[in-house]
Amino acid sequence: MKRMRNVKIVATLGPASEDYETIRALHEAGADVFRLNMSHGSHDEIAKKHAIIRQVEVDTGSSIAILADLQGPKLRVGVFANEDGEMLEDGAKFRLDLDTADGDNARVCLPHPEIFAALEPGKTLLVNDGKIRLQVEDCGPDFADCVVIAGGVISNRKGVNVPDVELPLAALSEKDRADLEFTAKLGVDWMALSFVQRPADVEEARALVKGRAAILSKIEKPNAVERFDAILAASDGIMVARGDLGVELPVQAVPPIQKRLVRKCRYAGKPVIVATQMLESMIESPMPTRAEVSDVATAIYEGADAVMLSAESAAGSYPIEAVTTMDRVAAEVELDPTYTQIIEASRQANRGSIADGIVAAAREIAETTNIKAICCFTQSGTTALLVSRERPRVPIIALTPLHGTARRLALSWGCNCVITPAMERFKGAVVSAAKAALEGGFGTVEDQIVVTAGVPFNVTGTTNILRVAPCDERLIFATDPE
Ligand code: PGA
Ligand code: MN
Repeated sequence: MKRMRNVKIVATLGPASEDYETIRALHEAGADVFRLNMSHGSHDEIAKKHAIIRQVEVDTGSSIAILADLQGPKLRVGVFANEDGEMLEDGAKFRLDLDTADGDNARVCLPHPEIFAALEPGKTLLVNDGKIRLQVEDCGPDFADCVVIAGGVISNRKGVNVPDVELPLAALSEKDRADLEFTAKLGVDWMALSFVQRPADVEEARALVKGRAAILSKIEKPNAVERFDAILAASDGIMVARGDLGVELPVQAVPPIQKRLVRKCRYAGKPVIVATQMLESMIESPMPTRAEVSDVATAIYEGADAVMLSAESAAGSYPIEAVTTMDRVAAEVELDPTYTQIIEASRQANRGSIADGIVAAAREIAETTNIKAICCFTQSGTTALLVSRERPRVPIIALTPLHGTARRLALSWGCNCVITPAMERFKGAVVSAAKAALEGGFGTVEDQIVVTAGVPFNVTGTTNILRVAPCDERLIFATDPE
C-alpha cells in the first residue's frame, strides 16, 4: 500500500481492534506494523489476530510487519482482601513481603524473592506507574519495610518499578520463553524485549529466537540508557519506551533521551520506534490535544523510523481515527521544507563499505537530477536499511524475493517493499525495478530510476552495482547489456 509519508506507524491490537474489518481499516488508514502485546490475551487470541493480519496482507497485497512484545520481568504486587485496594497515606509505614496471604493497609505480597535480596535501605519502589513512591527503611531476605513518600491507592496486581536497582532477574521469565516460542512458531517479524538491562539479555533472546524474527530492545530502564551503545549493537531495532522510562526516571529526562537514542539509531542504521502516550487523549476523544500532535510531529522531525499507538488503538474508542491522525500529522510534517532541512542536517555520514558508498551515491544522483525512486535489491534487508539511513528525498523501493525481509522492512523509514521473483541477471532486475516504480505510481514511462543491486544475485552483502535506468521497459532492452 503506497503511503504519502516515510515515517511508519505501529498500531497495538487489543479488544478495540481484533476483528478483520477493524484491522484492515487500521492498515488502510496507515498502520504499517501491528503490535501484539503479550502481557494481555491468551495464545488463542494472539493466533487469531495473527491470522487476520496475514489475511489482510494477502487481501491488500502489502507487506505488514507483526511485532510480538514480550512482557519481560515486570514486577507486580499480589492481591488485597479489599478488592478496591487500600489508600496509603504520606508518611505511613507499608511492608512488602513474600507472604501470599491477602494484603491490607499495612502490607502486601511482592512475590519476587530476588528483589528482596537486591534491595537496600534508601532505595525507592514505585507502584502503579510511579503514582505511589515508597522508600525502603529496613529489609531482609523476605521483607522490605517502607515509608510512604507519595501516597495513593494501591490495588490488586499493580506494577512495581525499582529504578535504582539492577534487577537480578532473568531477562526472560517462564512466560516470556513460552510466548517467544509460541509467536516465533506462529511467524512474527519482530520480537520486542521489555525491560532490557544488558546486552546479554538481547543475546539470550537471540539464541532462543534462532533467526525466526528480528530483535527489538525496549529501552525503559535507566541502566539500559547507560548501556545503550552496547544494547544497540546487540539489537536489530530499538523502542524508546517512554511509559516505563518516565516512571523509572524523572519525566523531564525522557525528551533528551529520546533525541539521543533516535540519533544513535539513525547513525547505526537500525529502526527506532518512539512509543507511548503519543495520542493518549484519543482513547476517549475523537480529537487529539495540540500537545499530542506536537509530540508526534517532534518524533517525526527527529527522523524516527516509526511512531506507535498503544491503548489508543488497542483499547480506545477511536482506534482508526488515531491512526488517521498520525498519518495526517506525518504527511504534513514531511511536506515542510524545515523537515527536510532538519533531517539532512542531522544525517551523519557513517560509511565504511562499498555498499555504504553506493547507497550514498544513489541518493546524491537521485536528488540532484529528476529521478523518481531509488530501487534496491536486497536479500537480508541490509542494503535497504543503508538506503533508509540516508533518509533520501526520493522514495525508496526495496525489492526482495523474501517475504520475511519485506515484512521486517515495514518498520523502517521510507521503505516501500515489493516482492519480486529471485533474480538471475541484472537486466531482469532493472526491468522489474522499473515495473515496480510504474505500478507503485512513483513515476511514468518518461521517468528514470536509480537501481542498486549485488551481483551475483541472491547472496547477502554483495551490493556492487549502481545503474540509472529508464522506467520504459523498451528503452531498457534497447540500451542495456546483459
Ligand atoms: P509497555 O511498553 O507498553 O509494554 O509498557 C512501552 C513503554 O513502557 O513505554
Ligand atoms: Mn513498558
